[in-house]
Amino acid sequence: MANLSPMMQQYFQIKEQYPDTLLFFRLGDFYEMFFDDAKLASRELELTLTGRDCGQEERAPMCGVPFHSAETYIARLVAKGYKVAICEQMEDPALAKGLVKRDIVRVITPGTVLESSMLDETRNNFICSLCAEGKQAGICFADISTGELHATTLEGEDLEERLVNELSRYSPREILINPDALEYKTLPPFIKERLSASLELLEAAEYEAETCEPLVLEQFQKETLDALGLEQSPLVVRAIGALLCYLKRTQRTGLERMTEVELYSGAQFMRLDLNARRNLELLETMRNKEKRGSLLWVLDKTRTAMGKRLIRAWIEQPLLSPAQISRRLNAVEELSGDAILRGSLSEQLTGIYDLERLMSRIVYGSANGRELRSLAAAAAKLPGLKGLLKDAQSAMLSGVYQDLDTLDDVLELIDRAIVEDPPFTIREGGIIKPGYSAELDELKGDMSDGKGIIAQIEAKERERTGIPKLKVGYNRVFGYYIEITNAYKDQAPPEYIRKQTLTNCERYITPELKELEGRILGAHDRSVQLEHQLFDEVRKTVAAQLNRIQKTARAVARLDVLLSFAQVSVDNGYTRPVVDLNGKILLKESRHPVVETLLDAPFVPNDVLLDKGENRVAIITGPNMAGKSTYMRQIALIVIMAQIGCFVPASYAEIGIVDSIFTRVGASDDLASGQSTFMVEMTEAAEIIKNATDKSLLILDEIGRGTSTYDGMSIARAVLEYAADKKALGAKTLFATHYHELTELESLIDGVKNYNIAVKKRGDDITFLRRIVRGGADDSFGIEVAKLAGVPDKVVSRAKQILAELEQGQQVSMPKARGRKRQEEPEAQLALIPPNETEVMDRLRQLDVNTLTPIECMNTLFELCRIA
Ligand code: ADP
Repeated sequence: MANLSPMMQQYFQIKEQYPDTLLFFRLGDFYEMFFDDAKLASRELELTLTGRDCGQEERAPMCGVPFHSAETYIARLVAKGYKVAICEQMEDPALAKGLVKRDIVRVITPGTVLESSMLDETRNNFICSLCAEGKQAGICFADISTGELHATTLEGEDLEERLVNELSRYSPREILINPDALEYKTLPPFIKERLSASLELLEAAEYEAETCEPLVLEQFQKETLDALGLEQSPLVVRAIGALLCYLKRTQRTGLERMTEVELYSGAQFMRLDLNARRNLELLETMRNKEKRGSLLWVLDKTRTAMGKRLIRAWIEQPLLSPAQISRRLNAVEELSGDAILRGSLSEQLTGIYDLERLMSRIVYGSANGRELRSLAAAAAKLPGLKGLLKDAQSAMLSGVYQDLDTLDDVLELIDRAIVEDPPFTIREGGIIKPGYSAELDELKGDMSDGKGIIAQIEAKERERTGIPKLKVGYNRVFGYYIEITNAYKDQAPPEYIRKQTLTNCERYITPELKELEGRILGAHDRSVQLEHQLFDEVRKTVAAQLNRIQKTARAVARLDVLLSFAQVSVDNGYTRPVVDLNGKILLKESRHPVVETLLDAPFVPNDVLLDKGENRVAIITGPNMAGKSTYMRQIALIVIMAQIGCFVPASYAEIGIVDSIFTRVGASDDLASGQSTFMVEMTEAAEIIKNATDKSLLILDEIGRGTSTYDGMSIARAVLEYAADKKALGAKTLFATHYHELTELESLIDGVKNYNIAVKKRGDDITFLRRIVRGGADDSFGIEVAKLAGVPDKVVSRAKQILAELEQGQQVSMPKARGRKRQEEPEAQLALIPPNETEVMDRLRQLDVNTLTPIECMNTLFELCRIA
C-alpha cells in the first residue's frame, strides 16, 4: 500500500468499502476500472485493457468508459447481475488542492435501477427483502422506480414452497435475505437459476427488530407500528427495515418515493404456483418465452405503461372474492356497452406518459426539462379523460373519476416556466420561458443590450477613427476585441491596447469594451445559474405533489386495464361470467382464448360441467392431437379470466370461485434441471396432492406417461382416485389420459365422468371433430394419427400389423419376406439382409408404443423411414 501512488491509495480505500461491486472510478471525463475489476469489465464489455502507473513496478490493469456514455455500459453490467459502484469527484479538479476528493454516490444494482434506458416500461422492477424465521417469513417487494411497496407474512409447514411461489409471482431482480433463510436449501438455487435474480445475503444485524423499527417509522412518518397496520407483522417490519437500510447504503436517493406500505394477504388471491403460471402461459409462452401466444397477449390492449404493468399484476393475481370480482366486471360491462366512450377514453389515454416513473425521476431530482414537459403533456390529457367519466355508473369507474386529479396547477406551472422544447441538459440554460422570472428576464436583457451596444461600438469607432474596415470580434481567449487591418494599423488611437498580432491585422482592446464584456459574460453566467435554480424549484414544487400524482397514475392504470378488458371482450365476443361460491363451473360453447386467436381454421366451441358433486372429475380420452390439452387449458384460462374480472370466451359461463389451479402438463420442459422426466412428473404430482384443496381445479395431462405401462397406469389411477375421493381431496379435476383402462373408474367412483373428443373414422382415415362428448374413447387411433401426419403407407401398414399381433397377445412376427429369409438362411448368410432392415426391426421391437409422446412417435417413425 505504501508504495502505491496517492490516487491508487485513495482507490483502494474506496474499493475496500464496496468489495462486491465493480468500481467506476471517475477520472476527468472517464470512469476507470482497475485491477480485477478492469479485467472483468474488459471481458464483459469488450473494452481494451490498458495499464496505468500506480507506483509499483507493474502497471495496474485498467480500462475505462467515457462518462457521458457510461449508462449503456452500466446497463449491460447490471443486466448481467453485477453491481456497479459510481465513484465521483466531489470537488472541481481545477480548484482542488492536492488529490481530488472522491466518494461513492450510488451503487446501481439490478433491483435499484432508475434509468429509463435500463428499465422495461411494461414491467415492474422489483427488489425483494425476505426475513425468515422458523416456519414464518416476512417478505416485501419494492419497485423504487414507481414507489410501490407490497408486503405480507407467509407461514406454514410448506413455507419454502410458498416463498418460491411468491417470488415467482413477483419475479424480483434482486433478493435480500437474512441468514436464517439459508435454512431453506432450495431457495438460493431457485433464485439464481430459475428466477435469474441476484441474491444478497445481508447480516443478521440488519434484520434486527431494534434497527428496523425506527427506520420503518421514520420512512413512513408514523409514531407507531399500529398506525401502519404492522403491529401484528414483526417479520414484515424487519424485512422492510432491512430493505430500507440496504437502499440507504446503496442509493443517494431512492427512498422518498416510497410513501406507503400495501400489506396484502395471500388469501386474497388465487394460488397459482410456478408450474401453473408457466404451463398455462399466462404472461409468456413456455417454449420461447414470448408474449405472443400468452393470455396477456390476448388481453393486453392497454395504452399506457402504467396500464401495461397493472394488467400483468392482475393476470398474475386472480381474485377470490365474488364482490371484488363483480366490481371489475361491472366496470367492464359498463365500458363494453358504449363503443363511443371506449373510443374516446382510448384516445385520451394514448399519449399519457409513464407518470409513475416520471415522478420518480422528478422526486429524485434527476428529471430534465423534457421530462417535466412530458409530465405536462400527460397532465393536459387528464381533464378530458376525467370529463368522459363524469356520468360513470359502476363503482370502479366512479372511483377512477374521484381519484383522477386534473393537475391543473402542475400543468400551469410547467407550461409557464419551461420552454416548449427544452434542451437535454439542465445546466446550460435555454430552459426557462421568458416572462417567468423578472430577474432572469433582466439578466437576459443585459446580455442582449450588451451585444447591441457592442454592435454600436463598431460603428462609433469607425466613424471616430476613420478606419473603414474596423471590426469588433469575439474569441474565447481574448473575449471582445477591435480588429484593424495592417493597412490602417498606424491610425489606431493611442488608447487602444494591442493584444494580438496576426499576419494581416492587429487586435486591440479598450477599457470600454472590457467593461461591456464583463457585463455580458457575467449576465450569461448568472442567467445559466439562475435558470438551473429556477428549474430545480419548479421540479421540487412538482415533486411535492407526489401523492396526488401517484393516485392519479394508479387511477389511470386501473382505467386502462378495465378498458382493455372491455375492448377485448367486445372484439372477441366474450360474455360476462356469473361468479359465485357455488363450486360449479358451467360453460356453454366455450373457446380457448389464445388458440382461437392463433388458429386460421374456426375453433370448435365446447361445453363444460364440473361441480362439487356428480361431476367432480372428468376423465378425457381421445387420440393424440384431438384437442384434450387445449380443452383442459381452456377451462383453466376461462376460470382465471373470470377471476381477474374479465369477460370470457363462451356463450354462457358460471364460475364458482376456485382457490387454486394446479397443473401437471407435458413432461419435457425440465430436462435442463437434470431430473428424469418421470421424477419431475412425480414431484409435481406430489406437490399437487399435498397442496390442493376441495376448492382447487386440477389439470392433469397424461400422468404416468414417463414410465413403463403398468407403473404409469397404476400411478395415474392412484392419483385420480385420490383427487376424486371426497374424503381425501375431492377437487375438481380434469384428467387426460391414454390409459383407456382408467375409464372404468366412472362406474367405480362417485363424481367421475368419462368424456372423449370425438373423431370420425372412415377406413384408415380419421377426422378430428374437436367436439367433447360423454363416454370413453374406444381407440387411441395412434396409427391413424401417424398416417394423418404423413408417415408413409408402408410403415403405417406394418405398424397396423404389429398392433394386431400385440392385441392378440402374440409375439411380433417379422415381415414375411424377411422372416422367411431369416429361417432359411444360415447364420453366415445374415448379411444378405440389408443391415438397415434388421436395425429397423430392432428398433421396432424396443419400442413401447404406450409410453411414447406423440412427438416421440412421429420422430421415431420418421427415423425408421429414413433408415428403411
Ligand atoms: P391433445 O392434447 O389431444 O394431443 P391438443 O390439445 O394439443 O391435442 O390439440 C392439438 C391441436 O388441435 C391444437 O394445437 C389446435 O390447433 C387444435 N385444436 C384443439 N382443440 C380445438 C378446437 N376446439 N377447435 C379447433 N381446433 C382445435
